[in-house]
Amino acid sequence: MASGANNEFELKGLSVSKGIAHGEAFVMLNTDFKVPVYEIKPSDKERERERLQTAIIRAREDILKVKAELSESVGEAEAAIFDAHLLVLEDVAILQETFGMLERENFNVEYCYSCAVDKFIGAFEKIDDPFIRERIADLKDVSKRVIDKMLGRSTLNMGILSDPLILVSSDFAPSDFALVDKSKILAIITEKGSQTSHTAILSRSLGIPCIVGVEGVAEKVSTGQFLLVDGYNGNIVANPTENTLRHYTELESVHREVQKLFDSALPMPSSTLDGEQFELFINISGAADIPQAMENYAGVGLFRTENFFLDMGAFPDEDAQYEAYAAAVKAAKGKPVVIRTLDLGGDKNLSLMKMVNKEENPFMGYRAIRFCLDHKDCFKQQLRAILRAGALGPVKILLPMICSIREVERARGMIEEAKEDLRKEGKAFDSNIQVGSMIEVPSAALTIDIIAKASDFISIGTNDLIQYILAVDRVNDMVAHLYEPTHPAVIRIIDHVVRRAQQAGIPVSVCGELAADPTFCSLLLGMGIRQFSMSAKSVGEIKYLLRKISLKQAVDLRNDVMALTRSRHVISRLRSFHYEIMQSK
Ligand code: PEP
Ligand code: MG
Repeated sequence: MASGANNEFELKGLSVSKGIAHGEAFVMLNTDFKVPVYEIKPSDKERERERLQTAIIRAREDILKVKAELSESVGEAEAAIFDAHLLVLEDVAILQETFGMLERENFNVEYCYSCAVDKFIGAFEKIDDPFIRERIADLKDVSKRVIDKMLGRSTLNMGILSDPLILVSSDFAPSDFALVDKSKILAIITEKGSQTSHTAILSRSLGIPCIVGVEGVAEKVSTGQFLLVDGYNGNIVANPTENTLRHYTELESVHREVQKLFDSALPMPSSTLDGEQFELFINISGAADIPQAMENYAGVGLFRTENFFLDMGAFPDEDAQYEAYAAAVKAAKGKPVVIRTLDLGGDKNLSLMKMVNKEENPFMGYRAIRFCLDHKDCFKQQLRAILRAGALGPVKILLPMICSIREVERARGMIEEAKEDLRKEGKAFDSNIQVGSMIEVPSAALTIDIIAKASDFISIGTNDLIQYILAVDRVNDMVAHLYEPTHPAVIRIIDHVVRRAQQAGIPVSVCGELAADPTFCSLLLGMGIRQFSMSAKSVGEIKYLLRKISLKQAVDLRNDVMALTRSRHVISRLRSFHYEIMQSK
C-alpha cells in the first residue's frame, strides 16, 4: 500500500550514484511483489473467471512469440523449453483449483490463482527430483506471466513511456536497462542492490542518481507519486513540500560547484606533487560513453562488451560487434582501447541465457571466460570482431574472471585460430594484439606470477575480487555490510598482485570501482598502481586528488595501512588522509 497520499514522507537507502532528481515515480512490479488480495461481490465472479481466461490467452501469445524468437536465434531444441510452459499454462488441475476457490470464497481471481499455484508448488517441493524441480521453475515463470497480464503490468510498457520518470523497483537488473529509453530515467530506486552491482555501475556511468536498499519502496511508493531523490545521501522524499525542494536545489548547486572544481583538473598533467606520472583511463559500455574531449583521458581501460549484448537482448553477429568496437576505437582518437571479452553471467544475464541455464549461484557459476571457452563459436565471433577493430587503432583484449593460466592459454589459442582464419580470408586485423588477464578471483591473485607468464598486462577487477575474497555476494543487500574493501585480506591481496606483476615486468592497472573511490586512490598509488580506470564522470575528482599528493605521502600511507589489522582502522586512516588532502592548498 502506498503511504501518505499527499503528506511528505521520507525513505532512506544507500546512495550508489550521485545526483539529485525529482519527478513522478514509475513502480515496476516484479516477482517479489505480493499478489493483491481483495474481496469481490459474488456477482463479479463470472467476470473474474473471464479475466483469468483472457490472461491465459495473452500469456500464450507471448510464450509462442518468445519461442519463435528463441528458435531463430538459439535453436529449436532450446526453444522447446516453452512447450513445457505451454503445458503448465493450460494445466487443468490448476485451473480447477483456482475456479474452485473462486466459487467458495469471495476473493479476486489473481489471488485465487496464486493460491492454487502455491499449493502445487508446495506439493512439488516435497519431491526430490530434478525433473520436478524444473517444473516448479516453469510454474513460477508461467504463473507470474499470467498474473502480470491480469494486473496489466508489463515491463515492456516502460519502453513506450514518453515522460522522464523515476523508476522504483524491488530489483532492477542490468538487462532491464534494455527495456527502457535511458534518457527517460530521472533516477532509480530499488530495494535490492549494492555499490558494485552492475546496475549501480551503469547508473553511475549514465549519470543517473541511484539509491538501493530502500526497504519496501515498491509498496510504499505508487506510480505517479512525486518524488525527490537525493543520490548524494541516499534520501528519498515523497510528496516534497516547496521548502524541501528549495533545500535540495541549494544542495545540488553546492555539489555542482565542487564538481566544477574537480573537473578543472581534467586538462592538467597527470602527475603528483613530486612529479610521479599516473594515467586515468575510462570504463565504457559502448562508444557513446566516450567523451568528446578524449585528450583529457589516457584511453579506454575497460570496455564492458556484455552491456552491448544486453542492450541488444541477443548475441550480436560479428559485423554488428565489429561496428560497435570500431566506433569506440574511432571515438578514442588514437588512444588505446581495452576490450574485455564477454563477461555474461552473475547479475548480467541475457534473458535467453537465463532460460537455458538456471543457476543457483550465478556469481560462482557459468560466467565470463567459462561461458566463452564453452561456446567457442560465439567467442570466436567476438575475438574476430575485436581483432578486426584492432586494425583501426590501438586495441587490447582483456579476459575476465581468469582462475588459472590454462584458461589464458586456451583463450590465446583461440585468438591465434581467429587470426589464422582472418589471414586466410584476407581481412585486416592487428596481428600483435596484446592480451591481458583480469585479476578478480583469489586463485588468480595468489598465482599472479604464473598468470603473468601468459599475459601481456594485468587489470585488477576489485569489484569481483572483493566479493570472492570475502565470500560476500556483491549484489546481495543482506550481506552488503560485509563487503569491505578495507578488510586487511583485500588490502594484502591487492598489494601482493601489484608487487608480483611489477616483478614479472608487466603493466598492472585497477579497473574496479575502487579506482574511483576518492578515499582509496592514494592507497592504490602508494601500492604501485599508475593506471586507474573508471567511469569518465569520476576522473576529475581522482585526478584532482592525486595531483594534490606526493608519491612519498602515498607510499607512507600504504605502509601504515598494511600494518593495520582491522577494517575500521583502515577506513579511519584513509578518511583522515582524504580529509587532509581536501584541506591542503
Ligand atoms: C570488476 O569485477 O572489478 C570489474 C571491473 O568487472 P565487473 O564489475 O564488470 O564485474
Ligand atoms: Mg568483474
